[in-house]
Amino acid sequence: MNDEDIQKRVEEIKARGYSPAREGRDPVNEPMIRHWAEAIGDANPRWQPGPDCEAPPAMAQVWTMPGLNPDRPPGEPLWDTMVVLDEAGYTSVLGTNCDQTYARTLRPGELVRISSRLEDVVGPKHTAVGEGYFVTTRNTWTVGPEEAPEEVASMMFRVLKFKPGTGRPTVDRSKTVRPLVNRDSAYFWEGTAKGELRIQKCNKCGMLRHPPGPVCPSCHAMDRGYVTASGRGRVHSFLVHHAPIVPGKQLPLTLALVELDEGVRLVGEVDGDVAIGEEVEVWFDRIDDDLTLAQWRRPGDEPKAAAESEESSDIPVWELPIAPTLVVSTALGTRDFQDVHHDRDLAMGHGSKDIFLNILSTTGLVHRYVTDWAGPQTQVLSCALCLGAPAHPYDTLRFTGDVVSASDGVTTIDVTGRVSLGTHVNARLEVRLP
Ligand code: ZN
Repeated sequence: MNDEDIQKRVEEIKARGYSPAREGRDPVNEPMIRHWAEAIGDANPRWQPGPDCEAPPAMAQVWTMPGLNPDRPPGEPLWDTMVVLDEAGYTSVLGTNCDQTYARTLRPGELVRISSRLEDVVGPKHTAVGEGYFVTTRNTWTVGPEEAPEEVASMMFRVLKFKPGTGRPTVDRSKTVRPLVNRDSAYFWEGTAKGELRIQKCNKCGMLRHPPGPVCPSCHAMDRGYVTASGRGRVHSFLVHHAPIVPGKQLPLTLALVELDEGVRLVGEVDGDVAIGEEVEVWFDRIDDDLTLAQWRRPGDEPKAAAESEESSDIPVWELPIAPTLVVSTALGTRDFQDVHHDRDLAMGHGSKDIFLNILSTTGLVHRYVTDWAGPQTQVLSCALCLGAPAHPYDTLRFTGDVVSASDGVTTIDVTGRVSLGTHVNARLEVRLP
């Protein structure tokens, strides 16, 4: 099956429009809310069993999730599209975007129905995880009588359906090669940690030198200090490294000999294409608490990986250790039985290095981060999130959040969740504060 065949069948599914409303397997109920709240670790009293129990808005999708052995009703657009792409060899799936709007919270006893339509299928695209198609559906959840349904939530949902084993190998930045730090070079690495590019200086004759050493090559004095360089220079020479693999680095890798404005040359990694003589400026790539690398880019270019040392957060930072139990319990708490969230062997068979958090759990954690800070009575109106690097066990998910705007009682908050592989999630929430 080629792209033309895929698109032909996609057009047939699109032409059907909205699917008939399908009922959730169970009405909204306290046990499932309790399981979800325990797995997410959300202690909001509104989700506690009792006469005032409400369902968390982040559970909207949970109520209509298929079960472990789903009996797929014919005519479900997302499912039908998955079947087409499975047949074409795109057998792995990854949630990438989820844009939800909530009209109100649900109460135990309410029976939720879902209706969905296929918006588009875009591809084939080359992505980090492999070659695949982005499949976008529009979903609405309703309650009440079928003849007069009340819409309680809606969602734009996008998944990447990809061929396993066709992606770039995952780069684990924690494996970045460590420099040898000694008495002669410590000042340099202490500098990069502070966002300074330091160059060794002879305290006797004033000569600048790099790489650092104990003796001045000009006057042979051993009295040494340093200056902080402007961080600007030009590419004196460069090479592009394609092989072998360098731990912690995405290949190809451009390495340049940069001649600083101060007249000293040093070797560094450059973002993107460069030419000899081109102007470059330094930026600092924080790998972890022990290592910050001085990297180079063209002035005005955004670095590939943002330097997290400059991070700011209006909402107190939340660091969540990702245990396998968190991944598995939240997957089940959100009624997601995809094997990649609970079975490492099968996850690896899909080209992943381990199991990983599902998109519904990330949604729940983002909601929790905001409402833990803003107060349990906060009303979440919408949540648009975009997933990036997967969150695997034994990593830490680090949340930061900023208040973007507040008007007409609606506060807009941006949340970022980072893991060692990079940004796991970028989310924008609209909330009504208590
Ligand atoms: Zn000297």
